[in-house]
Amino acid sequence: MFKKTLIIVITVFALIGCNNNQNNEQINASQNDVVNPFTTNANGRVNSKGIAAVSINMNFATIEFTRHPVGENDILIEILYAGICHSDIHSINGDWGNSSYPLVVGHEIAGRVVQVGSAVTKFKVGDYAGVGCMVNSCGECVNCLNNQEQYCLNGTIFTYGNVDRFHDNEISQGGYSDNIVVSEKFAILIPSNAQMEKVAPLLCAGVTTYSPIQVMKIKSGDKLGVAGFGGLGHMAVQYAVKLGAEVTVFDITEDKREDASNMGAVKYVNVNNPSDLQNLGDTLDYIISTIPARYDLNMYLSILKRNGQMAILGIPPANQMPSINVVDLIMRNGSRKIFGSAIGGIKETQEMLDYSVANDIYPEVEIINAEPRAVEEAYRNVIDGKVKFRYVIDMKTLN
Ligand code: NDP
Ligand code: ZN
Repeated sequence: MFKKTLIIVITVFALIGCNNNQNNEQINASQNDVVNPFTTNANGRVNSKGIAAVSINMNFATIEFTRHPVGENDILIEILYAGICHSDIHSINGDWGNSSYPLVVGHEIAGRVVQVGSAVTKFKVGDYAGVGCMVNSCGECVNCLNNQEQYCLNGTIFTYGNVDRFHDNEISQGGYSDNIVVSEKFAILIPSNAQMEKVAPLLCAGVTTYSPIQVMKIKSGDKLGVAGFGGLGHMAVQYAVKLGAEVTVFDITEDKREDASNMGAVKYVNVNNPSDLQNLGDTLDYIISTIPARYDLNMYLSILKRNGQMAILGIPPANQMPSINVVDLIMRNGSRKIFGSAIGGIKETQEMLDYSVANDIYPEVEIINAEPRAVEEAYRNVIDGKVKFRYVIDMKTLN
């Protein structure tokens, strides 16, 4: 279906235009010959462009908006690539509750630093930097102090769609955009030898699966099930195979059986094929579920051995939440442990990125242009199970 690309100037953001010709090109031109291509408005806010959902039903348009000024601890990143995570789709579809539109989603962000604040120490202009699912937190609560900013007791500021109490309660806007301003604490240094077009999905899909694998201490010979073999799932398979685990993949079609084997999984279970499910009971040490829809939790628990553990990562829509029959949980599946896990802290994200690049572990990506129609088509393909395995938007193609 043809949709006209329209440029919308959003009124909820500070207005652009009065001082458009004030630009920062001179500021950083001397360092590494990297030029800051972005202009600021009269209030010092950074002029930005992005692909936004302008209403609920995957209605995308290119918009102009502004981001808060580059503070002394902030960096300005020119975004080169942005991954499309299923969470983006849940968010703009209102799967987890209402979103405010227009909303620029995207929390798998890879780019280049084009400006640094006066107190920044971790980055210099020209470095490659990534941003994942969060952009701020209180820094003082027990979870922040333990490098678990994603569980900030005073409220994590997530990369998009969140009220940013550190910046006049503006709504955070994500990575399907030409730039982002972020505190250096929440930016990840991307090693210069990384494969840039593949690195963005590590910032969410990578760390979200890497983290529970560390928590469960998965090691060589362990038997791990990965349920849901998409963006997150195929990262979990790669990390676990690298550690020497025996991985069984669970998905709902035959389409990815060969891919699972190519990635080193020892078994593929199509849960819609009853014969695939035979003789699986009490066989696995661990399961990681990345399923984004309703599924039978007790079925998976029954596949775990006693004392086995199941990590839940997938967040289905509110009206498709899996529930659990506690009689089965006790009588059939007693002594299995189940826990949820949200992304990973900043320290762990840096560790994951360094590990992934050093071990050549990357997502399989399909690169698309930064056009509203291309994003809409990509979303439909993710929903229809037609992507292998992650779409990445080439933000340099944004017009
Ligand atoms: P994808 O769409 O890329 O992958 C989901 C996979 O699950 C697909 O392969 C899909 O199959 C498969 N699947 C769907 N239904 C079932 C089912 N009933 N049983 C088994 N497999 C199934 O999504 P992502 O990997 O990007 O995200 C997965 C989920 O994780 C989302 O809900 C997302 O919001 C959540 N998430 C959670 C995070 C956290 O911090 N906990 C962080 C990031 C994401 P097919 O391709 O055939 O449709
Ligand atoms: Zn994500």
